[in-house]
Amino acid sequence: MEQHELVIIGGGPAGLAAAATAAKAGVESLLMDEQATPGGQVYRAVGETSVQRAALLGPDYQRGRELVEQFNDSGAGYLPNTTLWNLNDQREIGILRDGQASLICADRVIIASGAMERPIPFPGWTLPGVMTAGAGQILLKSSGLVPGNGLVLAGVGPLLLLLAWQYLRAGVKIHAILDMAPTGNLWKALPHLPNALRAHHYILKGLQYQLQLKWAGVKFFNGVTDLQAVGNDSLEAVEFTHRNSRQSIKTPLLFSHFGVIPDSHLSRCTACDHRWDSAQLCWRPVTDEWGNSSLDGISVIGDGAGIGGAVAARHAGRVAAFESVRALGYMNEKQRDEAAREDQRWMKDDLRIRPFLEALFRPPSALLSESEDKTLVCRCEEINAGEIRCAIRAGHEDTNQIKFLTRCGMGPCQGRQCDNAVSQIVAHELGVDMLVAGGYRIRPPIRPLTIEQLAALDVGSVSK
Ligand SMILES: Cc1cc2nc3c(=O)[nH]c(=O)nc-3n(C[C@H](O)[C@H](O)[C@H](O)COP(=O)(O)OP(=O)(O)OC[C@H]3O[C@@H](n4cnc5c(N)ncnc54)[C@H](O)[C@@H]3O)c2cc1C
Repeated sequence: MEQHELVIIGGGPAGLAAAATAAKAGVESLLMDEQATPGGQVYRAVGETSVQRAALLGPDYQRGRELVEQFNDSGAGYLPNTTLWNLNDQREIGILRDGQASLICADRVIIASGAMERPIPFPGWTLPGVMTAGAGQILLKSSGLVPGNGLVLAGVGPLLLLLAWQYLRAGVKIHAILDMAPTGNLWKALPHLPNALRAHHYILKGLQYQLQLKWAGVKFFNGVTDLQAVGNDSLEAVEFTHRNSRQSIKTPLLFSHFGVIPDSHLSRCTACDHRWDSAQLCWRPVTDEWGNSSLDGISVIGDGAGIGGAVAARHAGRVAAFESVRALGYMNEKQRDEAAREDQRWMKDDLRIRPFLEALFRPPSALLSESEDKTLVCRCEEINAGEIRCAIRAGHEDTNQIKFLTRCGMGPCQGRQCDNAVSQIVAHELGVDMLVAGGYRIRPPIRPLTIEQLAALDVGSVSK
């Protein structure tokens, strides 16, 4: 099997910073990502985007250019268009590239697989014309595509506001923004405000987006509940409750968004320890201050280890790289501590905003666990909330039993879309906490792989 010193999975700010730092310190480093270019979610396609589009996306996006340049100049190896379908506790890595499946291994692995949008089933969410805000932003960043006939944005989270602001600058007609954060969230967030003020630039940015959108005449509905996408073959209108009255807005397009959670399937595939984070409402790996997981030689960093944002991810990448450099024998503990000190300090400062944001943008609990029986939860296998409840009432009391019985989570996405929703329904029905309800046991392949690709598995060289 091809052997590497350090393999980094994910080319977002965490992975790019880790790979560049380790390579500069003399470690043979190889970064792989399923995207075609470096940047991850936040800086997607930043190296290729026109100056005009980059300006429209805002100064935060443009900052990614410098990071990508540092990575390009570092001498780290790079495998774009490369999907990881397996990683085990022996650091054997299953790769799919140009249709060829391969296995390689590494002395150390840094998982920087980032975040994904929190999938929340609601009535009509599978209708054509309903997408996530993140998907809309991917089209904008990578191809400059924007909706031509206007749209409605609904949900909670800073990304919703950021996308609305970017669309406003791109001249897109926003019919309305339906803010679904419960009104009580603000009071719950207030105790965290003094600490959050140490990273007050985030708050100012959010206020600036809101003001500009309001000045431009975009209509905000706060405290929205009972969101429903309505239509026959595709979306025709969005219905919702606002101040006790049922309302409807005609629109061909609805972008929903309910925050981001760690994309943890790769780390969970290794079976390193994970815990349920009740503030971020997600599974996250247990890591130490250097990003080390409970498994020897495997670190998890950036949003994949818990949502912290792009700046914290970049610092976490450097910190984990210094730890790998030490573990591989290129520096001693004292040198590592000195090299990482500034990044650890910046990271700590930047993360001060998080408890405030988590409380402010916490999705409503009814949305998480009280889906209507007929709402599809597993989109791949077409299993609805009623079928899941039926299985629970028949005595199947943990998430994996529900999976075996109903096949939910067994489709092409391997449960990435329904994992949390099923666990939340189990926890709610049985009145237990998420640790008891459990999450899906994640097994390879975590990304689709055909039998033909598996049969032609190559244990030779992938990076030459
Ligand atoms: C859709 C979306 C859009 C976002 N947009 C913004 C934004 O505009 N501004 C902002 O501040 N924050 C944004 N965020 C949050 C942002 O992603 C993070 O704060 C930041 O990018 C985290 O950096 P990271 O390096 O941890 O991960 P990411 O930037 O997410 O990078 C992770 C990388 O890992 C790769 N990867 C994951 N799994 C595999 C696999 N199995 N095989 C191969 N490659 C894999 C992905 O392709 C990705 O490139 C967005 C999040 C999402 C989900």
